[in-house]
Amino acid sequence: MSFVPPDHPRFLSLMYRERLVEKFKEGVVVAQGLIAHGRGEAFDYILGEQTIPPALEAEKAAAALLKLARKPVISVNGNAAALVPGELVELSKALNAPLEVNLFYRSEERAKRIAELLKAHGAEEVLWRPDQELPGLSSERRRVSSKGIASADVVLVSLEDGDRTEALKRNGKKVIAIDLNPFSRTSLTADITIVDNVIRAIPNITKFVKAMSEREAEEALERFDNARNLREVVKWIKKWLDAKTSELL
Ligand code: ATP
Ligand code: MG
Repeated sequence: MSFVPPDHPRFLSLMYRERLVEKFKEGVVVAQGLIAHGRGEAFDYILGEQTIPPALEAEKAAAALLKLARKPVISVNGNAAALVPGELVELSKALNAPLEVNLFYRSEERAKRIAELLKAHGAEEVLWRPDQELPGLSSERRRVSSKGIASADVVLVSLEDGDRTEALKRNGKKVIAIDLNPFSRTSLTADITIVDNVIRAIPNITKFVKAMSEREAEEALERFDNARNLREVVKWIKKWLDAKTSELL
């Protein structure tokens, strides 16, 4: 790993880059995943690299939906596994929900590596050997497990592909998406869109899952409106841009 000076103003961001590069070398992350992370960083920058209030609301609603689900499943790709392996395991335990490896650039070897990484962080069971296909989807992401996504009613996804979000919805699933781009097809299609970095979003969801009663979960869901929430997110981005613009003057 390269040396990152701890007093560097972008220390955290640089550390996460180091982590991704390391996991790229280990065959957990693909090169395309590094590019996707860059797009995420750009959106994170204009959120001020923080959980903005509408994102926190969405995280609460997500926790509520996961808690009330009959069968929630957490879908994991290479970047998410590289960035927050332990946090994903903790959420999975808090919900008693399985982790399922689902990859756009799938190989047997990489799926297994990701499962091993999650197990090294304490996961008991990771679904990584799909035995079914999601109808209406042609990418490798169509391959799902009958014990996981295939029979789930709620699926949590991050760094997702718009095609699969649409396919999951068509197959009657509720989708919670963590996506820093509020304008992506994933963001516009999901039932609950969390515009936040997966690094902050996963621990926040877990905190809510642990603290929330069933009644509070029902209330949080009743209050939540995804389109309204996305509009709030865009308002925050505009506010951030205005503040930065006035620094230029
Ligand atoms: P869509 O297919 O939904 O229209 P896209 O094709 O624009 O999306 P992809 O490359 O398929 O985007 O997926 C990457 C998405 O993940 C981007 O929207 C990016 O902003 C987001 N992203 C990248 N890193 C993170 C992260 N650490 N946390 C949350 N979101 C992230
Ligand atoms: Mg896409």
